[in-house]
Amino acid sequence: MKPQKLTIANGRRTLTNYDSRTKEYQDYNRSRWQYNKEAMLFYNSAIWRKTSKMVLLANDYVCAICGGEATMTDHKTSIKKDWSKRLDWDNLQPVCKACNDAKGSWN
Ligand SMILES: [Zn+2]
Repeated sequence: MKPQKLTIANGRRTLTNYDSRTKEYQDYNRSRWQYNKEAMLFYNSAIWRKTSKMVLLANDYVCAICGGEATMTDHKTSIKKDWSKRLDWDNLQPVCKACNDAKGSWN
């Protein structure tokens, strides 16, 4: 028999297994997966490709961090931190791959 604890569910005292925390973990994984899916859809969207290209063109493909050749557009504030800034011009900067990798895409 698994270790159990007494909890209140729907106004009743009931015994639940101690390892029921895995449910929370599953929910966490599900929401994270949902975010990744939305982020992926965004990065593949026509509007992002267009905006990203405009940022690169406007800055002559110069990396905002090292001055090298930029190949991609970076979010200064990541879209994970602020989803509303995903197409905010002030939040975008051209970067090279090395700088983008060094920064980490989820920071
Ligand atoms: Zn760079």
